[in-house]
Amino acid sequence: MIKFLDLHKINNRFREDFQASFSKSLDDAHFILGHNVTNFENEFAAYCGTKFCVGTANGLDALTLILKGYIQLGKLKRGDKVVVPANTFIATILSILHAELVPVLVEPDPKTYNISVDTDKTIFVDAKAIIMVHLYGQLADAENFKKIAKEFNCLLIEDAAQAHGGISNVMHLKAGNLSDAAAFSFYPSKNLGALGDGGAITTNDKELVEALKLLRNYGSKEKYNNKIIGFNSRLDDMQAAFLSIKLKTLDADNDIRRSIAKAYLKGINNTKIKLPFYDGSKNHIFYAFVVEVDDRVGFTEFLRKNEIEYLIHYPIPPHRQEALQSFSYFNLPLTEKIHKRIISLPMSPVMTEEDIQTVIRILNSY
Ligand SMILES: *Cc1c(COP(=O)(O)O)cnc(C)c1O
Repeated sequence: MIKFLDLHKINNRFREDFQASFSKSLDDAHFILGHNVTNFENEFAAYCGTKFCVGTANGLDALTLILKGYIQLGKLKRGDKVVVPANTFIATILSILHAELVPVLVEPDPKTYNISVDTDKTIFVDAKAIIMVHLYGQLADAENFKKIAKEFNCLLIEDAAQAHGGISNVMHLKAGNLSDAAAFSFYPSKNLGALGDGGAITTNDKELVEALKLLRNYGSKEKYNNKIIGFNSRLDDMQAAFLSIKLKTLDADNDIRRSIAKAYLKGINNTKIKLPFYDGSKNHIFYAFVVEVDDRVGFTEFLRKNEIEYLIHYPIPPHRQEALQSFSYFNLPLTEKIHKRIISLPMSPVMTEEDIQTVIRILNSY
């Protein structure tokens, strides 16, 4: 059986360091917003190249708090439109709804699956923000979207939950530093994953950071002095310590993922399988290696029979979910077509050469 993602093997590499930091936290007993959170925030901001990082409880909250933060600063208001790709994980869209804003769903570029610069520009005229999702780990076209955001006076936000460490080959900046503010998730399966939930926001905007620090902690800077209506969405201190340990290997892990992708792209040669677009640069961290097939039911049966684990990111588009029935009027044929055809193959920094060759051999025999 070839695992899609062997979380045990991934995390077991850090077992001793995790145990030492757990013991230290147990001794320090500073469990909420302790020095581990501050340390990690500083390290992750430095890593992304931003001035600031604010830890949150998870990626959804990171997105929601960015939007709520801009509302707090008067840069967004209830009912404002936010342009967002329709083919994303539902969290991106939920964050807009939780902030009482209005999502405007757009079709992706079928080559990269990311928000397209060819999107009808009239859509941006009355929009107040644009969220780019770096889907599957490939960076969206931030350079052009910066221009669009400027032209239409929109805020530009990144959903970087799948893109930790990706580098724009045009802007030469990292994911998290390609927009006004970026949201990260440290859900265990992400390229930088905690041993539980976690998230963060990166930005160069000091005012936003002030608002975010209040919002994530009951609206209070000083205990029992509440300035605004806040939330409880803090990055857990223990998770922050684990993330500091794993951050050191993120670049090496992303390099391994890219080399597996290159091996797949070179080795898989089957007209029934459409391989993903990759320019060979560091603008992709291969959170997922996504192929397309005409007969997904047949293909998944074939993979199961050959003991290759797979996932589908994602089987049902957000606007077709029961929870979002009021969005079902959106006409998004491209998004729906993609959702019917895609499959994610095994991809992780702990795959062996034999695993990789087995996947290639089996796919070529499909
Ligand atoms: C994982 C993910 C999120 C949400 O992160 P959580 O930490 O699970 O809340 C948001 N957007 C995208 C694109 C994701 O992949």
